[in-house]
Amino acid sequence: MEQKREKVLGYEIDLLNSVQALERVKNSLDDKSGMQIVTINPEMIKQGHTIDAMNSILNSAELVIPDGVGIKIALKLKGINQERIAGIEFAKKIISMCANSGYKIALFGAKEEILQKTGENLMKEFPGLNIVYSRNGYFSKSEEQQIKEDIKNSVPDVVFTALGAPKQEIFNSEMRKILPQAVFIGIGGSFDVWSGVVQRAPVFWQKTGLEWLYRTVKEPQRFKRIFPTLPIFLIKVIIEVTKEKFCAK
Ligand code: UDP
Repeated sequence: MEQKREKVLGYEIDLLNSVQALERVKNSLDDKSGMQIVTINPEMIKQGHTIDAMNSILNSAELVIPDGVGIKIALKLKGINQERIAGIEFAKKIISMCANSGYKIALFGAKEEILQKTGENLMKEFPGLNIVYSRNGYFSKSEEQQIKEDIKNSVPDVVFTALGAPKQEIFNSEMRKILPQAVFIGIGGSFDVWSGVVQRAPVFWQKTGLEWLYRTVKEPQRFKRIFPTLPIFLIKVIIEVTKEKFCAK
């Protein structure tokens, strides 16, 4: 299948809907080719421009899902109508597929009680789910090697890493070399939501693309992260689009 992608500020993003994206994950699982999935947003693009490891990850990830609303707007400015695929929803679809097809999963990240509750809730929702590894995301540098060994030895088909970006992407890319046939996805604060401890924004905010604003009001410490990243990102995209138009003439 031809892979349609579009570059935004130097990084290629897959242009697909969630059904097609899930199909790509299924193919990778079936032929054991392995992949790293990145659910990209403007903050990650900024990290790509400033952190070497993140730069190479964004250049090599096999599947780059258009997650943040900023990405949707950026693609729109380039004349592309792309639906936003929320990472948290996409990850749930992968879990459902794993439960139905017998693929084994690893859960890595978040606080211990959140992780425990997430495991319980997922087992209730998907009784056939095979969770072969589960660990909270708080560890010292000296424990990291053992974690990697343990994940390798549990031989999961999909690893869900919830450490926040770029930590989860860097961990996944290192793990990808150790377990080349597995699928890796970084899912940020998804366990917090799946555990029932944190509520997602009501559907209205999700549908209008303003979930980030809702989360910022609920967790004001996020304000510093989002601003000025989002407006600066959009200004840079407008400059990029203008240059592209100018050069095309
Ligand atoms: N986290 C972790 N280990 C760390 C830092 C963070 O497990 O060293 C977890 C944290 O508990 C939370 C998630 O990573 O569950 C990050 O959530 P955040 O909302 O920051 O991610 P986002 O969805 O914004 O990418």
